[in-house]
Formats: sequence, C-alpha cells, structure tokens
Amino acid sequence: MIGILGGTFDPIHYGHLRPAQDAARQLGLTELRLVPAATPPHRRRPVAHAAQRLRMVELAVAEFPGLAVDDREIRRGGLSYTVPTLESVRAEIGTTPLCLLLGTDAFRDIESWHRWSRLPELAHLVVLGRPGFPAPDAADLPVWARKRLVAGPGELRTRSAGGLLFLEVEPHDVSATRIRAAIARGETPPAEWLPASVLDYIRRNGIYRSEAA
Ligand code: ATP
Repeated sequence: MIGILGGTFDPIHYGHLRPAQDAARQLGLTELRLVPAATPPHRRRPVAHAAQRLRMVELAVAEFPGLAVDDREIRRGGLSYTVPTLESVRAEIGTTPLCLLLGTDAFRDIESWHRWSRLPELAHLVVLGRPGFPAPDAADLPVWARKRLVAGPGELRTRSAGGLLFLEVEPHDVSATRIRAAIARGETPPAEWLPASVLDYIRRNGIYRSEAA
C-alpha cells in the first residue's frame, strides 16, 4: 500500500514529517510520497519558490526512511489539484491500494476541492489528527463519508481505494505559518519545529526574512 501526502510545504516541518512517519508505520505503507504543490488552489501564494520548497522536502526526507519526494505537481505546474495527481499515480500503480493522507484541517474543507467526489474513487482517505482541529464525530459526517468509514488499516489493504479512516498519530503542534513568522521576526525557530538541514537551507537562501507575520 502506497501513501501520498500533498502540501504547500512552505516550509516542510516536523508537523508533517512525524505524523507522516507514524501514519506510514500504522498503515504498513511500503512508501509514503510527499507531493509539494506548484500553486495551491485554496490559499495564498507560497512565499518560497516551488524549486526551493521541493529542495526543502528533499533535505527533510533524507532523515526519514520510508518517506520519499514526488515532484509531479511541480513538473506539471499551474494550479495543483489533487484529482489529476491521484489519476497519474493510479495510472502508474494499477490496482495497488493507495492512501491520500491529509490533516483534520484539510479534511474539513474537502468538499470545496476540485472534483472532490472523485477522490475516494482514486484513493482511500486517511485523516491524520492535528492539534487544534478535532476530528468530527461520525454522526456529523456527510453520508458519503459515513458510508466509507472503515474500522482500521487492515480493511484498507483489501481494496485499492474508497475507504475513510481517521487515524490518531503522534501529535506535533507546529505550522508553517508559525515558522515563517518566527523567521520574519528575526528569531530562530526551535529545533523541535523543523530539521536543521531545512533551517540551514532557509538561512542560506534568505527565505521568509521579509514575510509580514
Ligand atoms: P500553513 O501554516 O502555511 O497553512 P501547514 O503547516 O498547514 O501550512 P501544509 O503544507 O498546508 O502545512 O500542510 C500539508 C498537509 O499536512 C495538510 O493535509 C495538513 O492538514 C497537514 N498538516 C500540516 N501540519 C500538520 C500538523 N502539525 N499535524 C498534522 N497534520 C498537519
């Protein structure tokens, strides 16, 4: 079973990496691919360039066996909708089970994504707990989501797509916004927030120094 975690990664941080690694272990993934967006459709323009965000993800995953980088959205360019990304991965992997990982904050808005109803046809949806964004109660889920709920990772391995799983992962309360704001204030973000290699790259390239926090 393969996993995909998309994001702006502006910059990548341990709030992506630790929950991703924990989820990969719990799900028994053979590989978890981090997919940096070229232009994210639902948010303001990233501060770092696509090539810089890609490089930071490459540096970060070097410390995390089992995590890999997939640059297809950056190669494709333009608005990075998830459905065409999953379609192109699916074309490569055939019927291998595929999980789309996303945080509880992202799941809350999923019905606003481009062609969102196609997502569960292409992958399982695995929603990772994120501090400050509680998972919804099953009773509050829309019908499409409720009928896709599975009891655990084992069920996801039995088919290629279509399940929905809420997964409790090692919580790590950090966001890219907080990191950018700290750097813009001239502070050094704590070592628990992001890998030293990524922070060093940010420094050497003078990224985020002027972002209005
Ligand atoms: P920003 O602060 O710029 O909004 P972000 O830290 O939320 O960025 P993204 O690149 O937008 O990072 O996130 C990519 C994916 O990772 C999303 O699905 C998001 O829900 C998830 N994610 C980000 N931070 C965490 C975290 N601390 N815990 C769990 N999931 C997270």
